[in-house]
Amino acid sequence: MKRIAILGSTGSIGRSTLSVAESYPERFQIVTLAAGSNLDAAFSQASRWRPRVISMAAEADADALRARLKAVELRGIEVVHGSGGAVQVATHPEVDFVVSAIVGVAGLEATYEAVRAGKILGLANKECLVAAGELITAEARRQGKPLLPIDSEHNAIHQCLRGGQINEVERIWLTASGGPFLNTPQSEFDAITVEQALNHPTWKMGRRITIDSATLMNKGFEVIEACRLFQMPPAKVEVMVHPQSTIHSMVEFVDGSILAQFSVTDMRLPILYALTYPERIQSDMRFSVSDLRHLDFSPPDLKKFPCLRLAYEAVECGGAKTVALNAADEVAVAAFLEGKIGFGEIPVIIEEVLAAIGSGKLESIASVLEADAESRRYAQLRVDNRKKTISKIAGSRATSFA
Ligand code: MG
Repeated sequence: MKRIAILGSTGSIGRSTLSVAESYPERFQIVTLAAGSNLDAAFSQASRWRPRVISMAAEADADALRARLKAVELRGIEVVHGSGGAVQVATHPEVDFVVSAIVGVAGLEATYEAVRAGKILGLANKECLVAAGELITAEARRQGKPLLPIDSEHNAIHQCLRGGQINEVERIWLTASGGPFLNTPQSEFDAITVEQALNHPTWKMGRRITIDSATLMNKGFEVIEACRLFQMPPAKVEVMVHPQSTIHSMVEFVDGSILAQFSVTDMRLPILYALTYPERIQSDMRFSVSDLRHLDFSPPDLKKFPCLRLAYEAVECGGAKTVALNAADEVAVAAFLEGKIGFGEIPVIIEEVLAAIGSGKLESIASVLEADAESRRYAQLRVDNRKKTISKIAGSRATSFA
């Protein structure tokens, strides 16, 4: 019986993990949960799974949940809150396996503490590896525990790497759908609206990750994740645009053999793989091989998508640079969604922040969070300055027309 903690239980990965646990009640037990701010979802998960501990993001929500559990006479569930609560969920002595799926830097501390407590980690949170990957992977090595990726591309790479030794790897091919603007000329990028950018052709996702897919920053983050998870230099991780997204990723070995992984696009599969590793167990998720028809591949256009280039530059330096990359991107994407900057300005802001932030090595989660806050402040300043310059230009145009 594997005893599981889920950080981010009410989000999409959290719910998929619970659905996998539901399908194999003889194998998996849910011991602790960290929910966000969705009180109804947290209450129904607590009632269904009866965890030892459940954490809410805010104290007021924890109080409300406690009252609701008491009202239906559900006892024996400890309700906690905040980052301390998430750490308690992640390090609970009865837990063997922690699924890390809290979005953003909010999940960093609990994830790091889980590794320090010797838990096996299933990683779905990007920020953990982009912002604190050096710390987390070093600690996992020290503990001798595997880090099992739940992101579909890294999960595919993890599977392919089992076909050889790590020193036999020539390169990793990370596949990318290319996003909605793959065939849009760069000259039209300034006119891209928020609605167009949010309209991803194949995936329905959160707003930030949808924009990150459109700028290819999401793939840039995945390059960084791959470097850190698999101890690969950036030069050995290459992105290949593959619009059908059938091949989830590939590994090329020194003898010229290339292993690729494909399967249904259902997040329950990488979750099941991580939860049962190193075993594989029966599932009903089937991919029909006769559906394999056209598979297109082309290299990404780094001129058109500078975010991908910036990610390579940041991981080459490491330390605070990848923290700044993530923080600046979050601020720039929010500014684009609020109509404060244009689509083509997202990489401009990020590049300015990267140039301003040093590449210091980060020794603790606290210093990661500090670098994160500093980068955010600086990015916000750049956004505000830019807005002022733009409105000044617009203003002078208006007067000259009048
Ligand atoms: Mg992915």
